[in-house]
Amino acid sequence: MGKPTGFLEYERETACVLPPKVRIQNFKEFKIPLNREKQKQQGARCMACGVPFCQSGMMIGGMASGCPLHNLVPETNDLVYTGNWKQAYLRLIKTNSFPEFTSRVCPALCEAACTCNLDGEAVSTKENERAIIETAFEQGWVVPKIPKVRTGKSVAVIGSGPAGLAAAQQLNRRGHSVTVFERSDQIGGLLRYGIPNMKLEKSVVDRRVRLMEEEGVNFVTGTNIGVDIRAEELMKKFDRVILACGASKPRDIQVPGRESEGIYFAVDFLSRVTKKLQDSNFEKIPYELAKGKHVIVIGGGDTGNDCVGTAIRLGAASVTQLEMMPKPPQERASDNPWPQWPKVLKTDYGQEEAIAVFGHDPRIYQTTVAEFIPDKKGHVSKAKLIRLKSETDKKTGRKMMVPQEGTEEVVKADLVLIAAGFTGSEKYVTDAFGVEVDERSNVRTKDGEYETFVSRIFTAGDMRRGQSLVVWAIREGREAARAVDESLMGYTNL
Ligand SMILES: Cc1cc2nc3c(=O)[nH]c(=O)nc-3n(C[C@H](O)[C@H](O)[C@H](O)COP(=O)(O)OP(=O)(O)OC[C@H]3O[C@@H](n4cnc5c(N)ncnc54)[C@H](O)[C@@H]3O)c2cc1C
Ligand code: SF4
Repeated sequence: MGKPTGFLEYERETACVLPPKVRIQNFKEFKIPLNREKQKQQGARCMACGVPFCQSGMMIGGMASGCPLHNLVPETNDLVYTGNWKQAYLRLIKTNSFPEFTSRVCPALCEAACTCNLDGEAVSTKENERAIIETAFEQGWVVPKIPKVRTGKSVAVIGSGPAGLAAAQQLNRRGHSVTVFERSDQIGGLLRYGIPNMKLEKSVVDRRVRLMEEEGVNFVTGTNIGVDIRAEELMKKFDRVILACGASKPRDIQVPGRESEGIYFAVDFLSRVTKKLQDSNFEKIPYELAKGKHVIVIGGGDTGNDCVGTAIRLGAASVTQLEMMPKPPQERASDNPWPQWPKVLKTDYGQEEAIAVFGHDPRIYQTTVAEFIPDKKGHVSKAKLIRLKSETDKKTGRKMMVPQEGTEEVVKADLVLIAAGFTGSEKYVTDAFGVEVDERSNVRTKDGEYETFVSRIFTAGDMRRGQSLVVWAIREGREAARAVDESLMGYTNL
């Protein structure tokens, strides 16, 4: 354990965050990390608990508690405290393939489960992680790990999101020949075209892709498997296939007027913005996509928040975010105790920016769209909103959000972004490979396993578990790699 009295001596301190009105001027990351000395003090706050929930990654109350990667949190916090940055880095990469991604975008399940929460504030494990990995890059410790021996076995990974990348990195380092196929023009999955640049700068993704290329991973972009290359052809060429195609089928809002122009799925819109930014080398902001528009974001979750932050950076005239569910409480409810994930109100960066720019929280709870009203040219111009009330279905006993007649209100809407979640994997890929899917269109495997019911085909990430988090995708990618390695070699040391 680092400093036994650290948590009593030092307050939690986190990165300096640029003020909303400053950071919305561009799409750059806006957190300025603590200096290394201050970060060491933050490491000192870790109590090295006997039962470190922070690294447990267990399901408690139906929700994950602690790090799904089982990062060795107390150990790395201690090494940060003692300034042993190289050891901290070596410890961190034992469990985490891409700490530079998680330390930027992870919701920090570790911190929610930190014992310090019981009477104070959590250890800043996520920022400690960022300091470790960025120190390692600065010091030149992150170098390509090229396998000394090749096994002669080949693996095709379909999809280059965090699950596919984690699997590819592990299998390539083990000596198998790995090719990652990506239908998009660039590698990264939702790390590239989903999570906005201000949360994860694309240069951070490029840096890792370059390393993996140097290690020997073969990346093929612009190739849609199941369309450009047939599944059978791929199965003939490769010993194993991992499907890591994500859960990209968006949930739609089927109401009158849906066919109007100006209504987009969130990821399509966010990808377009990132693509335009990348194409201009981040020099031009594509204001034409939202400037002066009244924007409605449907969905109160993280993707919706990314849409709010993006629309504000593009100069939207107003942004309204609709959430079907009631407003969460400020504090944990009695049936949601530590170390469960806290189901409390979170005001994220996009919402903070909306408050700074427009003077109020963009979120309206228990509300949805009943109708989109187009102008004469067929472009959406207004939306009819309706309030929802929680009612219990008499037959099934399930709670439902039911529209309340007479509560309709018409608001301006020139741009609508649907961020209502995802409904699983895409049928053309699962049909092409003949793999089974469950009722949510997630690819089926045996519980806790990664091989599908079709021999030699494995799956990982959102495609297997449904829409989730980067940290889970990395874990699944690593575990799928282990399963593939075992099936190829008869044993595994991954
Ligand atoms: C807008 C948004 C913001 C998010 N923000 C966060 C966040 O802040 N923190 C967090 O932890 N999680 C976040 N998530 C969730 C996280 O991004 C996903 O859980 C994670 O990326 C899933 O990884 P994956 O590798 O399974 O799939 P994906 O990242 O979806 O990658 C799948 C890839 O497969 C490719 N593909 C699909 N089919 C084919 C095919 N037939 N041939 C070739 N390629 C194919 C796709 O083009 C895609 O690139 C966010 C999600 C969204 C949508
Ligand atoms: S990956 Fe996420 S949950 Fe795990 S230690 Fe890092 S920030 Fe915490």
